[in-house]
Amino acid sequence: MKNLEDPNQIGWELDNSYTSLPDKFFSRNKADSVRSPKIVAFNTSLAGYLGLNEKELNNSYGAAIFTGNDIPPGSKPLAQAYAGHQFGHFTMLGDGRAILLGEQMTPSGKQYDVQLKGSGRTPYSRGGDGRATLGPMLREYIISEAMHGLGIPTTRSLAVVTTGETVMREKPLPGAILTRIAASHIRVGTFQYAANWGTKEELRSLTDYTISRHYPELAANDNPYRLFLENVIERQASLIAKWQLVGFIHGVMNTDNMTISGETIDYGPCAFMDEYNPATVFSSIDKQGRYAYGNQPRIGVWNLTRFAEALVPLLHENKNKAIEIAEDTLSNYSSLYHEYWLSGARKKLGILNEEEEDKALIESLYELMEKYNADYTNTFRGLTVNRIADIGLLDKEDFKIWFGEWKERLRRQKESEEVSLEVMRNNNPAVIPRNHRVEEALEAAVEQSDYSVMGRLLKVLANPYTYATEQEEYAKPPEPSNQPYQTYCG
Ligand code: AMP
Ligand code: MG
Ligand code: MG
Repeated sequence: MKNLEDPNQIGWELDNSYTSLPDKFFSRNKADSVRSPKIVAFNTSLAGYLGLNEKELNNSYGAAIFTGNDIPPGSKPLAQAYAGHQFGHFTMLGDGRAILLGEQMTPSGKQYDVQLKGSGRTPYSRGGDGRATLGPMLREYIISEAMHGLGIPTTRSLAVVTTGETVMREKPLPGAILTRIAASHIRVGTFQYAANWGTKEELRSLTDYTISRHYPELAANDNPYRLFLENVIERQASLIAKWQLVGFIHGVMNTDNMTISGETIDYGPCAFMDEYNPATVFSSIDKQGRYAYGNQPRIGVWNLTRFAEALVPLLHENKNKAIEIAEDTLSNYSSLYHEYWLSGARKKLGILNEEEEDKALIESLYELMEKYNADYTNTFRGLTVNRIADIGLLDKEDFKIWFGEWKERLRRQKESEEVSLEVMRNNNPAVIPRNHRVEEALEAAVEQSDYSVMGRLLKVLANPYTYATEQEEYAKPPEPSNQPYQTYCG
C-alpha cells in the first residue's frame, strides 16, 4: 500500500511561522473531529498553484484533512487572536470557528495560510458553536473565486467539505468546513489587539513579522513603520477602488475583516449590485447602511485610522510627533483612492489619456445610471460590446447627449476605437456573480446535492472578461422583484 501521508506525493510544504510570534497572538488548538466528512467542492487549479497534488487530496484523505479529522505533516494548528470594531464597537474577537493549519510554501516561493473555517470551538469562541453551514461556505467559495477571476486581490477557497453533522441555526442545517487560502489572516484587528492588550515589544514583534511577510522590501529601512502604514493604506485604497469599479459590496467592513495584505476577506453578507445605486445595502444586519456601496471608501479610511492608532507607539518616540505622522500618512488615502478609482473608471470607458474633464464625464454616466435605475455591470457591458440597446437608456435624451460626448472624447485620443474597446473588454466584466445565479447554485447544492449548477457558474465566473456567448445567459439581471435581495452573516 502506498503511503498516503508521504508529503512528497501530496505536496505539503507547511511552515508555521505564526508560532514565532509571542504566545499572546494565538492558542494552539486542534479542530474537533466530525462524523463523516465528504468533499463537495475542490479547487483543482488552486491546488496546483499551491503545489498540492489533486489526485492525492480530492479523496477521503483530503476530506479528513479539510475537516481537521487528520492533520497534514508539518502542521501545528492554532487559532489566531484578534480584536476589532464591529459596526463601530470595539471588542475582543479571535478565530472563534477557524484554525490555521500552517503556511503552505508554494513551488513559486510564496507563502499562504491554510485555514479551516467552521472547524469547531476555540478559546475565542465565546457563545458560538464554532461551526459553519453548507450554504454560506459554498457562497464564500463562489464569490471569492469570482473575485479572483475579476483580478481583485482576495482570499481563495480550496475546498468545501460537508461534515455529516447538523448545525443548529434558525433550523437544523447541514454543517460544512471551508478551506480558506490567504496571503495571511493578519487584520487591522490583529494590530488593535496588540495595541490594546500587548506590550510595545509585542506590537513590534507583530509589526516586524507582518512587514517581513507582506512588505519585505521595507525591512531594511531605518524607520520602516511609517512606510508600512503608507503601504497598507495604498493597498487598501487600491483594493476598495477595485470593489467600487465592479460594484462589489463587502457588507461587513469591520476592522477585523480588513487584511494587512490587501486581500478581500470574509465573504459573509457581501453581494454585487445589480441596478446602480450608491445607497445599496444587502446585509440584513446593516440597518443603518453603514456599509452601503457608496460608503465603502469612507469606511476604508475609518478602518485605516484605527490601524494607524494601533501603530502610534512605533511611529515615533514622541507621542505627539507619532500622531502627526499618522495623520499625515492617513491624509494621503483620499487622493490615492481617487487616483485608483479614476484611472480604473477611465479604462472602463476606454479613455487612454487624461483630460481634466474626464471625472465629470464619468460622474455624469453614474448619475444617469442612478436616475434611470440602470444595471451597473450591463451598462458598461453594453458600451463595451457596442450594443447600446442592451443598456435600456437609448430613449433617454440626456443619455444620448452623454453618449455623444463620450464618443467625442474618444476621438480626442490618438488610439483607435478598436484599441479603446479592447481596454474596455479587459476592464468591464461580461459577467459577475449575480445574486439570483448564486442563490440558484446554492439551492441546487444544498437542497438537492446537485453541484452541477454551481460548477457551471464557477466556470463562467473564472473568465469574466472573455465576452463569450456562453456567458450571455449569466449576464442577465434578475427579474424585477418586490423583495429586495438580502444577505446574512452565515
Ligand atoms: P465575522 O462576522 O465572520 O467576521 O466573525 C466575527 C467573529 O465571530 C469572529 O471572531 C468569528 O470567529 C466569530 N464567529 C462567527 N461565527 C461563529 C460561530 N458559529 N462560533 C463561534 N464563533 C463565531
Ligand atoms: Mg471575520
Ligand atoms: Mg464571516
